[in-house]
Amino acid sequence: MRCPSSPRAARPLRVALSAVLLLVGGGCGGAQPAPFERANVLLIVVDTLGARHVGTYDAPGVETPHIDGLADSGALFEHASSTAPWTQPSVASIFTSRMPSKHGVTNLLHRLPDDAVTLAERFSALGYRTHATVSHFLIGHEFGYEQGFDELDASPVSGHDGLSSPAVTDGAIRFLESVTQDERFFLFAHYFDPHFLYRHHEEFDQTSGYGGNLVPAMPVWALREMRSELRPKDLAYIVGLYREEIAYTDHHIGRLLTRLRELGLDENTLIVFTADHGEEFMEHGWIGHTRTLFDDLLHVPLIIRPPGGIRARTLSAPVSTLDIAPTVLELVSSDARDPDADGRSHAAAILGREDDETEQRTIFAEVSFDPATGIPERVEQKRAFKTAVVRGNLKLVHDLETDAWDLFDRERDPLERRNLWGENAARDEELRGALLQFERARETARPDASNAPDEEKLERLRDLGYVH
Ligand SMILES: [Zn+2]
Repeated sequence: MRCPSSPRAARPLRVALSAVLLLVGGGCGGAQPAPFERANVLLIVVDTLGARHVGTYDAPGVETPHIDGLADSGALFEHASSTAPWTQPSVASIFTSRMPSKHGVTNLLHRLPDDAVTLAERFSALGYRTHATVSHFLIGHEFGYEQGFDELDASPVSGHDGLSSPAVTDGAIRFLESVTQDERFFLFAHYFDPHFLYRHHEEFDQTSGYGGNLVPAMPVWALREMRSELRPKDLAYIVGLYREEIAYTDHHIGRLLTRLRELGLDENTLIVFTADHGEEFMEHGWIGHTRTLFDDLLHVPLIIRPPGGIRARTLSAPVSTLDIAPTVLELVSSDARDPDADGRSHAAAILGREDDETEQRTIFAEVSFDPATGIPERVEQKRAFKTAVVRGNLKLVHDLETDAWDLFDRERDPLERRNLWGENAARDEELRGALLQFERARETARPDASNAPDEEKLERLRDLGYVH
C-alpha cells in the first residue's frame, strides 16, 4: 500500500538525517518505521554463478574480492536455494516471491504475466525511481520483466559469446549519477558473463598451465558431445575458464560498488547480491544447466548488506531466493508487505534480533523445461520435468517423467552422490508427502502463461545460440 504522504522526492532522507527523521516518524499512519526506512536498494544478480565458485563460500583458489567484501559487512546466507535451475523462472521468483508454477514462467519463451506484481512495481508504488540494466534478453521487454521499471536498459545484451559486464556496470553507474538528492531508487543490475561460453581472461588467469586440446569459448554443445572423453585436467580447465569469467564479473561489480561509495550513496543503500542458478561441470554427468535439481545448480550465493554495513554475520539455515523480496521490503518499508508471498523475511536474523531460524523450513524447487525447437537430440537432452523439496539437511528430488526418487543428505554428502531413498521408510514418506502436496498445488497454480514462440523470438534465440 502506498503511503499517501510519501510521494517521490517528498522525504529527503540523507544519511546524516535518517536516524532523526526515523525518530520523528518515518512511515505513515503511525506504523513502526522499517529498520532502514526508504533506503535505496541495489539488487545484483549474476547469471549462472554457483555458490561453490564464490570465494567467500570457501571456494578453493577463487578470488572474488568485491563480492566477498559485501559479506564482510553484511549477512551471508550459507544455504540459499534457487527455485529453478535456469534464468527465466528463477529471476521471476526473485522479483515476485512466487514459485515458478505460481508466477507462470516455467518454460522457454514464457512471458511473466502482466498480473504478476514485481519488486520493481512495489518500489515504484512507494515512489522510488526504478531502473534495470540487464544482459540477457530472456529477462527483457519481450518477456514482461520490465514491469515496474521506469526504464529497463537491455543494451548490454550481447549473446553467449560476448562480454557484457563492462556495459552493465557502465549503465548502472550512469543511472546512479542521474539520481538526485531527493530521490530514492531501486536498481537491478544483471550480469551474464559466467554463463557459457567460457572465455579466457588473461588478467584473471587460472588456465595457463593447461596442455590439452580444449580452447576458450567452445560451444557448450561441443563440450557436451565430448563429455565422456574429458579427463580431470580438461574439466579443471573448463572450470578455470568459468572462474576467470567470475573474477572478471567481480571486477566490474567492484567498479559499480566503488562508484556507489564515491557518490555518497553507500550509507543509504541496501545491497542484495545473488545468482539465478549455478552450473554443472560433470559432477552429475552434464555440463551447463536446466536439466537437474542438484545443488550444482540450486545452491546460489546470497548476501544482504544493510546500508552502511553491519558486523558480518553468517546465517546457516536453509533459505530460498523467494525470501529476497519479503526481506528487502521489511528492511526498507513500513508500508509494503506481501501477505501472499511464498518466501519469508529474514530481516530480524540479518539484524541479529533473533537467532538464525532453527525451525524446519520446507523449501521447494521445480523445473519444466522443454525447449520449443532446435536440433531434436539436443532438445531431448535438455528436457527436464522435476520437483524437489529441501527440509533441514535432506533433499528429495522427484523425476516426474520416470517417477524416480532421489534423496540426499546435503550435510554429509554435499555433492549429492549417494541416494538414500529406500533406507528409511518413515523419512521417505514424510518428504514424499510434502513433495506430492506441492505437486498437486502446482498443477492448479495458474493456467499456462506461454507466449506463442513467434518467428522473431526464435530468430533471437538462434542468434544467442539457444537453438540451432
Ligand atoms: Zn541464468
